[in-house]
Amino acid sequence: MAEILILLSILIFLGACVVVIIATIKFVSYLLDKKPKNTSKQSQANSSTRTNSTQTTYRPSPSRPVSPSQAPNAPIVSSKSESNTYRPSAKTGRQSKLSIPFKVIENNSESPLDLDIKDLVDALTGAPLQIQLGLYQCQRCKVFYQAQSYRVIQEVNEGKCVSCAQKQIINVAERKQQRGHNADVNVITLENYRDYVGNVITFEGHVFEVKTSRRGIDYAVMFENKSWSNGLKMVVFPDRLHSMGGYEFLKSLEGHKVRVRGLLKLHEKYGYQIVVSDHAMILGVQ
Ligand SMILES: [Zn+2]
Repeated sequence: MAEILILLSILIFLGACVVVIIATIKFVSYLLDKKPKNTSKQSQANSSTRTNSTQTTYRPSPSRPVSPSQAPNAPIVSSKSESNTYRPSAKTGRQSKLSIPFKVIENNSESPLDLDIKDLVDALTGAPLQIQLGLYQCQRCKVFYQAQSYRVIQEVNEGKCVSCAQKQIINVAERKQQRGHNADVNVITLENYRDYVGNVITFEGHVFEVKTSRRGIDYAVMFENKSWSNGLKMVVFPDRLHSMGGYEFLKSLEGHKVRVRGLLKLHEKYGYQIVVSDHAMILGVQ
């Protein structure tokens, strides 16, 4: 019995060995078959689609940071070396095609910035409009205001537009394709300024003196050699002093000819004044 068992185990072992050997042979033959087939396919592919492959390998190369010396050789070298990576190069070709709709999407995402505000300025300050600073528009005359100017108008002009004097100013930052205009800015003189109360104006005049209020925090750049209440002046309120350049800057205007853009107001106690809120409203100093 023991001999039979030993014989059986030997047979089973031999059978297992045969199975392993056959599997190994098949695997090796599979590998050997695969290599020549692949190269033959590649040679076919290269011969039939050589122009295509050079095109697909061409596209990514400009976007890659290739050194200038390599760039001219790229078509010849890459067509051979990248023939081994034929499929990946085809994928990069697809990716470059996909990048086109990507760019379109980017353009769409930028469309809110395509508000019709090119060459348009803040109706009060005259500064170029920036959407990120908050945008308001008069629905009557279509001029724009930044949020800061909108606040100034609420505080000193009863919320009235400085161009058309209507109270129809709304926030338009979220809206698209808003048509707009620049304000008609009146150039006023010492003779006619009383006719432009409530309007944005430009004025050029000699600065006789820079007065400080009794509170010590308001400043008047006097364009007439008169008292604070009786003369035309540019007034700077304390919360605007910093953005107007500070007291030193205002004081430096004494004796100079200054061109200023601002909102002309008639204060019941302090008289005619040009309200300014931003350094951009100083248009020139001579
Ligand atoms: Zn208006």
